[in-house]
Amino acid sequence: SLIRKIAAGEVIHNPSFVLKELVENSLDAQADRIVVEIENGGKNMVRVSDNGIGMTREEALLAIEPYTTSKIESEEDLHRIRTYGFRGEALASIVQVSRTKIVTKTEKDALATQLMIAGGKVEEISETHRDTGTTVEVRDLFFNLPVRRKSLKSSAIELRMCREMFERFVLVRNDVDFVFTSDGKIVHSFPRTQNIFERAILILEDLRKGYITFEEELSGLRIKGIVSSREVTRSSRTGEYFYVNGRFVVSEELHEVLMKVYDLPKRSYPVAVLFIEVNPEELDVNIHPSKIVVKFLNEEKVKKSLEETLKRNLARKWY
Ligand code: ADP
Ligand code: MG
Repeated sequence: SLIRKIAAGEVIHNPSFVLKELVENSLDAQADRIVVEIENGGKNMVRVSDNGIGMTREEALLAIEPYTTSKIESEEDLHRIRTYGFRGEALASIVQVSRTKIVTKTEKDALATQLMIAGGKVEEISETHRDTGTTVEVRDLFFNLPVRRKSLKSSAIELRMCREMFERFVLVRNDVDFVFTSDGKIVHSFPRTQNIFERAILILEDLRKGYITFEEELSGLRIKGIVSSREVTRSSRTGEYFYVNGRFVVSEELHEVLMKVYDLPKRSYPVAVLFIEVNPEELDVNIHPSKIVVKFLNEEKVKKSLEETLKRNLARKWY
């Protein structure tokens, strides 16, 4: 229905959101190799292929129904949110407003299931060959919502947003191989690595002019990070990546701590990739489809710990 399409448009704003939801599903399916391919900034196609656990035919058909998720098993799960997705609305929304093809196979099935869906309607169910894992190919986003389609940005801008979304995952999931192609050309290819900071230095090139890394544990809190020296700044906040318990988050509180410690001139910002681990019980996670806002129950403690860690490490010698 039109209402369902419009509701879907509220969750999925542009190709980068499709990319985000699909990659999160791949990670939740325990994939350790994820290939993202886009065409025309994602406006023509976003395809995510993984080597995760896959879906049976029944599971695949259920996955595209709204509010069906395989991921919440208990109240406790919901509280902890160990997985990225748990609301069961992403795939259902995406298939409403695109032409989607899903090819998926579990280890116990000999053949893969292929589903073709257009505007929410399953048009074809067939069998095909594939290794265990899942490929979701999303074409012609908003083909059936012309106003929304028109409001998409230029391919160059949509491509940049897709890249940035992809990089958010790459920076934190160093345990996963990632490949990103745009119009058939490889943009990024990162093999798994032991060192979580390695990818930051590759992606955020200005870090190379001066950075420091640290990894500390204080009062039940783990803080890991790679940050630029005071001399290496950007004129916008584009170099700021905060992760709490493995999730990319937006946090004005953490931003303020960062700015306070750096004490830079107006409109100068550091490059900083920070990983904070707290007891999940000390976290209030409000996951809006478009961003993740966290509230630390013990905010003062987190801010103080981060401030001390940054201060101490910024005073060290640079590499
Ligand atoms: P959620 O991630 O919130 O559960 P989604 O709509 O994103 O909801 O996905 C619905 C369901 O489809 C998931 O719970 C999962 O069971 C299944 N699924 C989606 N993508 C994949 C994938 N790449 N591999 C395996 N299962 C998947
Ligand atoms: Mg999901």
